[in-house]
Amino acid sequence: METHRHYIGGAWRDGAASLPVINPSDGQEMARIARGGPAEIDAAVAAGHAALAGAWGRLDATARGRLLLRLADLIRRDAERLAGLESEDVGKPIGQARADTAACARYFEYYGTAADKVHGETIPYQDGYTVMTVWEPHGVTGHIVPWNYPLQIIGRSVAAALAMGNAVVLKPAEDTSLSALALAALAEEAGFPPGAVNLVTGLGEEAGAALSAHPGIGHVSFTGSTEVGALVQAAAARNAVPVTLELGGKSPQIVFADADLDTAAATIVRGIAQNAGQTCSAGSRVLIEDSLYPRFTEDLARRFRALRVGAADQDLDVGPVVNATQQARITRYLDLARRDGLPILAEGQIGTNVPTGGFYVRPTLIGDVPPEHVLAQEEIFGPVLVAIRVRDEAEAIRIANATPYGLVAGIWTADIGRALRIARKVASGQVFINNYGAGGGIELPFGGTKRSGHGREKGFAALYGFASLKTIAIRHG
Ligand code: NAD
Repeated sequence: METHRHYIGGAWRDGAASLPVINPSDGQEMARIARGGPAEIDAAVAAGHAALAGAWGRLDATARGRLLLRLADLIRRDAERLAGLESEDVGKPIGQARADTAACARYFEYYGTAADKVHGETIPYQDGYTVMTVWEPHGVTGHIVPWNYPLQIIGRSVAAALAMGNAVVLKPAEDTSLSALALAALAEEAGFPPGAVNLVTGLGEEAGAALSAHPGIGHVSFTGSTEVGALVQAAAARNAVPVTLELGGKSPQIVFADADLDTAAATIVRGIAQNAGQTCSAGSRVLIEDSLYPRFTEDLARRFRALRVGAADQDLDVGPVVNATQQARITRYLDLARRDGLPILAEGQIGTNVPTGGFYVRPTLIGDVPPEHVLAQEEIFGPVLVAIRVRDEAEAIRIANATPYGLVAGIWTADIGRALRIARKVASGQVFINNYGAGGGIELPFGGTKRSGHGREKGFAALYGFASLKTIAIRHG
């Protein structure tokens, strides 16, 4: 069985210890990764600084962009292999992993073509002066990534940071590091100078904590849970280092009777089934106008009953969840729903031929959930949709905003005035009207408000987050 290594300063280094990688479809160990800690993080940050002082720092923006484009091409060349790794490691149906791989390549392409298009300004000032601004990299940026969409989340943060000229240290999630390792090998093949891209695998409380507290880091991009995000921000604050926090969500889908109900129901079910509900921006609460509630929940229930759950390579609607802890967490919420007498409106089916030992849960639709109930407030991070009745537009806005989170919102109505009124009042970083893209496209700025975090990734706006603005004032008379 293969034991993977760290990638630091352009060299592959054995770990002093290792960790098992478990296949979620059957619960079996499938590989081992190196268990890095403060020593490896120190070496990676030092390698990043050496790259900035050397070949990487000397490249102009166009040359950096070309390297990103070369990496995008290599990701596309190896798409099937990368998708297979991601599918096996995360437990994603292979079709969903293929889409993630295509998105990863697209991030490197998007930011590769953007690298030389970030301009400063000249600013009118006193007579005899010319003042200009320039965007400069933060230096060495840290990237701490969760297990649910490794390829996509690495793509969106690492590609933007590299485009702006930072050297990166990536710490993928301990459960799902295999696609990150494959990407590091492709970055090496693409010709990134040693130290521009560094990868340290290991546990969050060891490698992740060492990275977020490291005094040599200029910025931390963290995607993960709200609890760990607060730890990362506190650690970075001791060095006065900026952080981007992409955290959890409890995003509402608000449905009115005048909407295209067939499209709404299909999109809402697909949005929560995707990646077994382990999507930060999943629409996990559906707020339904009272008059529509019986008809629409019946439609949702029919679609939930049709969802099929199976191993990643069976490529059904829903794969296993990532690990036993996640499976137990979701089961606890479902037990709570039963204990409190909430109506279970429908469940999907786990195939009889799934491997034993995998982490499977049945997609579940729960009706008439009081907005203040734990199931309507907390991020379950599984294929569980809670339905809530709302009287009117005002109540929909109130309930939509009545959780600690604010990541994404979906609004389904033919009344564009109503849709825009809600869009302006709902607390979230993205709003989709009569469509819903969990996370949105590569081109669309994405991020949270409230406990869903701060800062923006994706889109052109993300580039400014990975750079620092310098003002140069020249007195020339
Ligand atoms: P997590 O917070 O447990 O782990 C995320 C990453 O942080 C992992 O790499 C982990 O090793 C590391 N980590 C853990 N403890 C750490 C510490 N003390 N210091 C530094 N790093 C540490 O999250 P998870 O369980 O992997 O992912 C699920 C969560 O991520 C959900 O809440 C989900 O909503 C959120 N998420 C958010 C987005 C977004 O873009 N907003 C995207 C995907 C996932």
